[in-house]
Parts: sequence; C-alpha cells; structure tokens
Amino acid sequence: MCVVEVEGRRGFATSCIQKAEEGMVVHTNTEKVIEARKTVLDLILSNHERECLTCTRNGNCELQKLAEEFGLNDIKYEGSKNKHPIDDKSPSIVRDFNKCVLCRRCVSTCKKVQGISAIDCTERGFESCVSTFENESLNDVNCTFCGQCIQNCPVGALKEKDNTDIVEEKLKDKDTFVVVQTAPAVRVGIGEEFGMPIGTNAQGKMITALKKLGFDKVFDTNTGADFTIMEEATEFINRVKNNGVLPMTTSCCPAWIRFVEMNYPEFLDHVSSCKSPHEMFGAIIKSYYAQKHNIDPSKIFVVSVMPCVAKKFEITRDDMQGVENLNDVDVVITTRELARMIKRAHIEFTELEDSEYDSPIGEATGAAAIFGVTGGVMEAALRTAAEIMQGTPLKKIEFEEVRGQEGIKKATVKIAGKDVRVAVVSGLANARRVMEDLKNGKADYDFLEVMSCPGGCILGGGQPIKSSKTRSKVNVFKKRADSIYSIDEKSTIRKSHENPYLKEVYKEYLGEAGGHNAHKLLHTSYVKREKYRF
Ligand code: SF4
Ligand code: SF4
Ligand code: SF4
Repeated sequence: MCVVEVEGRRGFATSCIQKAEEGMVVHTNTEKVIEARKTVLDLILSNHERECLTCTRNGNCELQKLAEEFGLNDIKYEGSKNKHPIDDKSPSIVRDFNKCVLCRRCVSTCKKVQGISAIDCTERGFESCVSTFENESLNDVNCTFCGQCIQNCPVGALKEKDNTDIVEEKLKDKDTFVVVQTAPAVRVGIGEEFGMPIGTNAQGKMITALKKLGFDKVFDTNTGADFTIMEEATEFINRVKNNGVLPMTTSCCPAWIRFVEMNYPEFLDHVSSCKSPHEMFGAIIKSYYAQKHNIDPSKIFVVSVMPCVAKKFEITRDDMQGVENLNDVDVVITTRELARMIKRAHIEFTELEDSEYDSPIGEATGAAAIFGVTGGVMEAALRTAAEIMQGTPLKKIEFEEVRGQEGIKKATVKIAGKDVRVAVVSGLANARRVMEDLKNGKADYDFLEVMSCPGGCILGGGQPIKSSKTRSKVNVFKKRADSIYSIDEKSTIRKSHENPYLKEVYKEYLGEAGGHNAHKLLHTSYVKREKYRF
C-alpha cells in the first residue's frame, strides 16, 4: 500500500524502504498510484479471512478502513487461500495468520523495540508467513507475552486471549462472590474505547459500568500497589542494610520476569520477590477481607482488569496462591475486553454518572496511581523508602528525574545521606542493553525499575489500540501519563506507607512489612526457563 512514483524512474517505488535522495521528486497520489494501491488491496483481500462481523478488530481495522477509503465494493480476485492453524496455546495471545496482511510490523516491534525476535518472516512468495522458531506455538518459544505486537498489528491477526465469557458466566452464578479490581492504567484508557479523548480519566464511569455489570464489589488495584510498595521498599532497605544482592529490580511486570527467567537466570536473585499489585491484592481479598467479612474464600472469584496481556500468563504461574491453594486472581481481562463487555451489555458508557470504589478497600494513594507509567514504581518506592530510612517526612515527594518517556533514565538520589543509584527502563530492548552492561561490569545500580512496554503500562499490550495514523499525530503516552500524574497531584494521601487501610491490615493481620505472614501471602519465587530464538 506504500507504492509511490518517483520522477525519472520506471514503475513504482515502495516508500517504506525507498531512501530519500537529493533532488528526488516523489508523487504519492497520482491516478496510477491510486490504481496500483487498489490492485494491491484487492490481492490482499483475496487471501484474507473475511470474518469482519465477528472479528475483534471490527470497526478498528486498518484493512477495513482502506477498503472503505478505496471504495472496494466487491472482491475482484478469488483463488487459492492460505490456511494456517490458529495458535491459541498461550494463556495470553491468539495468533490467526489467516488474517495477516504481512505488513511485518509485529516482526519489527518484537525485534527492534523489544529485542526478543520471537517471530520472523518465513517461506517465500504466496507461502510467506510470520512464524516462530520451528513453527512452535508462541507459548513454547522466547515470547514474553508483552503484547506489543498486538498493539502494532493493523488487523485481527493478533489478539489477546478473550476471557470475557468466563467472567460473564461467574456473574450469573449467585453462589459466587465476584470481585473486580482495576489497574491504574485502565482508567486513563477505557474511555477511548467509547470515543472519549485520548487519556481521559474515566474512573468514575468505569466503576459505575462495573457495578451495572453485576460485580459484587469493585475495588482499586491501586491499594494492591500500596502493598507492593510497602513490601518492596522494605525489601530494598533490608538489602541495603544487610549487604544483600544489589541492584534490586522491580517485579510487577510479568513480561519482564519471563524475560529474566529466559535470558538472565543468573540475575534472578536480583529480582524483588514481591508479587505484582493485583496478585497481592487478590491474596489480601481471599485472606484478610474474606475473614473480616465472613466469606468463604473458595466462593470468592477475583477478576483483574489490566492494561496487560502478560498478566493472563502471570496468574497461571506457580507460587501465586497465597491462601489454601486458591489462585490469588482467577481471571484477567484487558481494558479492551472490559470495553467489549460493557458494549455487549448495552451500557451507554459516556452517559453514566460517576461512582466511587467500594470501601474499605477502595482507599489508595497517589503513589499507587503512578504505577501505570514508566518511572512510577520507582518514584513511589523512593517516597516510602526515603521516609522510612531517614525517619522524617520528605520536603519534596516528586522525583522528577525518573519521569518521562525516555527508554533508559538514570539518576542518583540522596536518601538518608546515602547516594542511591537508580535506573528506570521501559521496553525490553532497553532492558537487554542495561542487563548486558550490568553483566559486563559496565554499569552499576542500587535499584532498577523495568517495565516491558515502552512507556509503561499506559501503553500496555491490553490497552485500546490506536491506528498508526493516530499515533503519528498524537503523543498517546503524554496524554495518558499527564492524566495519571494529575490523579497523584489531586490525591490527599500520596505515600503508600500512609494509606490507613494498609496500616489496619498490617496491624490486625500481616504484622511487620517483610515479616513472615507478609512473605507467605505477598511474595513469590521464580524459575529458570528454556528459550528459543531465530
Ligand atoms: S508478545 Fe512481545 S515478545 Fe511476544 S511476539 Fe509479541 S512483541 Fe514479541
Ligand atoms: S502485524 Fe499483524 S498483519 Fe502485520 S505481519 Fe504481523 S500479524 Fe501480520
Ligand atoms: S509494562 Fe505493564 S502492561 Fe506491559 S507487560 Fe509489563 S505489566 Fe504488562
């Protein structure tokens, strides 16, 4: 579709690989170019599984849009079609290459942005397709389940594993107490699925919609993020005081964990043993909350709404059962899946009144809200670690040096008179750079935050998909990040250790942060994994 005419040359050039040269005159919209594009489009459609009505990308598909723009009313060429098996073995991602248009955006995202190369183009001509090492399932190769390939696929060839049917079934079951929790990044993305401006904070309408869908309780994962900070900051302080393994890395991104397990298993003891916020929160709901409200934990079904497809994999990991062998979280749905559920229930999202999260677990801090953006976990942890270490309140709680869209941010911050060297990384290709430097002794840090998705969870694999055209015009990161930081600024409590609900749970149930009970419920372990690459 990128054919153009270059003056003085025969035929067409493809603009995506044509290098600009001095004096070159390029025509992008001549009659000949438009005819050629129409023919290409016709040929693509002739080998495309045309299931528009039932495709998850119906209404948000770049191929559909092009067919409309070029006024294609019928399919000109009918002939052989490729028939690829659907790969739905992984808990996170479904690949249907019968819908692939071979644009290779997924390949370059996986290779260049994420530095993984789990997928590449194989075969030639009509047989060309995107595949994995030895055509294995994505589940069985070095894929991290970050979902960035889904974000960049223009059609429905890549999508999350849809779990909305499981949730809808549970909501009908009167015997089950169905609790939902929503991650920080979801509230600044969900509105976009209903035509609201990019980055709108639609928290209030989202809660109302969840209540209308029939969830028994609607809680905020931000409270779980406050628990994560309490545990992670305590773990960091202990490592610093006791000459423990440093740098310590964050652990709330499951794609990062899978990346370390496959690529740098010798660094596993650097990774914090803290579970991610929604896992911690699920464990608290099935233990302390269940006990306090006299609910049988085996009757509680916890649904997490996440901006992430890797979280679907995370809940299947071993050592994610804090209570009596019950999974901390029972099912994960993405922001996009929640939007689908709301649409299916004919709820007019934009017309909803605002509601509040259910108490008492609705209480969360500004520190937790910023988890959704790169640098947020580090900043939240520093607020708490600094105050605990120095024993006095910080004069300024913002750590601006760890904010922003840059893929690798480095800073030295003073905590209780000590220089603490921190690095904040987003995108796995950047993570690989930092890990190689650490391995080769070219860098040294005390604390490292890694989020697999470039920009953090606000641009996660489960967030609303923006077309390449939109992304070329709007800085989606900035809009969603601004919205997240404004939640923090407006919060009355902005440090995790000041959350009154946490104080109550530690006092009545968990004991000391980092203590025996907290470890049993809120911490996990990791394994070395085999990996395969092209
Ligand atoms: S999910 Fe991430 S690692 Fe896996 S194929 Fe897609 S981009 Fe690559
Ligand atoms: S991004 Fe989608 S359409 Fe493009 S090559 Fe990958 S799977 Fe195919
Ligand atoms: S950065 Fe966030 S959305 Fe992306 S894989 Fe990690 S946890 Fe999921």
